[in-house]
Amino acid sequence: MDLYSGHINNLIEELGALPGIGSKSAQRLAFHLINMPRDKVLRLADAIVKAKENVRYCRECYTLTDRDVCPVCANQKRSHKLIMVVENTRDLAAYEKTGRYEGVYHVLHGAISPMLGIGPGDIRLKELMERLQGDVEEVIIATNSSLEGETTAMYIAKLIKPTGIRVTRIASGVPVGGDLEYIDEVTLLRALEGRVEL
Ligand code: ZN
Repeated sequence: MDLYSGHINNLIEELGALPGIGSKSAQRLAFHLINMPRDKVLRLADAIVKAKENVRYCRECYTLTDRDVCPVCANQKRSHKLIMVVENTRDLAAYEKTGRYEGVYHVLHGAISPMLGIGPGDIRLKELMERLQGDVEEVIIATNSSLEGETTAMYIAKLIKPTGIRVTRIASGVPVGGDLEYIDEVTLLRALEGRVEL
């Protein structure tokens, strides 16, 4: 693409490397950024750098947070005996939006996928098992209903079963392959309330 200067090409390339941004969107965003007032561009750049430098994993549930322990884990009104296992921080946010879940979470940061070469050691499973040494009554597995999500759910259930801790899976009804974050709150609540024993 020799149409543009090196700086523009560079910006288009960096934006195009982001998930969900095709080359057309990357070009559109690049020109939008270039036309933005300088102070707005600096604010955006600063927000990116600050988020990158200050965001870390919660010491307990491994969600992304800017504190040592995230607000959910730090809340003593939440039941710490009830742990919902989700694939990522976006799924946690989806359940939090319902405002009805009173337990805590465990964020795996991925799902087992033999096809992509992602094994149990590549997600935060060991950390989950360590948490189960404490006082836990139930683990709700809320991974996606994709092949990877189901594989992960079955794997976790098998690991937990011998501990005697109750293991449940959110009800199907959540569309197959659907990302939890795109599902409305009513459906999420129904899936949670209709959870089944594994
Ligand atoms: Zn946490």
